[in-house]
Amino acid sequence: MSTSQNAVCRRCRVEKTKLFLKGSKCLSSKCPVERRSYAPGQHGRIRRRILGYGIQLREKQKLKRFYGMSEKQFRLFFTRAERQKGVTGENLLSLLERRLDNVVFLAGFALSRAQARLLIAHGHFLVNGRKVFVPSYPVAKEDKVVFRDQSAKRAGLRDVVETHRTKTVPGWLEVDRENLAVRVVSLPTRADVTIPVEEHLVVELYSK
Ligand code: SF4
Repeated sequence: MSTSQNAVCRRCRVEKTKLFLKGSKCLSSKCPVERRSYAPGQHGRIRRRILGYGIQLREKQKLKRFYGMSEKQFRLFFTRAERQKGVTGENLLSLLERRLDNVVFLAGFALSRAQARLLIAHGHFLVNGRKVFVPSYPVAKEDKVVFRDQSAKRAGLRDVVETHRTKTVPGWLEVDRENLAVRVVSLPTRADVTIPVEEHLVVELYSK
């Protein structure tokens, strides 16, 4: 068990940034990135110069891991972003932010995006009154996401919400903690993305 837990944190250490994959541990002093800010492994402390393709690959991996996606799924999002009008990198970030699992996590209804995915897959959420089982479901402006009534009664889920009562919610979402609901006020923009990423490098990587 401990090996797989460490494996999750290794992803952050490889990217040298906090990807918030482990819930409350990510906000505590136990976070390995806080304690060991170098890459994992025997040669982790050795400084290596990464150039060109290597930098682009790291940016893509960082973004993909932050949202907990497979390569295939991430590529699909990129293709959608490319087809939209505007700047591809910004379109990509907006599409990623609009994922239902991300919304559930940002609203404070799950400890991590991974937990949000699990809750959605188990049918705990309604979007505009309809059950949605797909974590990658893209929310739209004025969508309303709520815990299902019987799900809300579960003490475990209430506890999670209580833990996040003071969590800062981005301006594009409006959270009603009493009714366990979140409304999409507007679509997210580049400024709403918190992960430090240079999205143009991801675009360059996929445009080769
Ligand atoms: Fe582990 Fe979370 Fe820290 Fe990442 S941010 S290293 S997942 S505790």
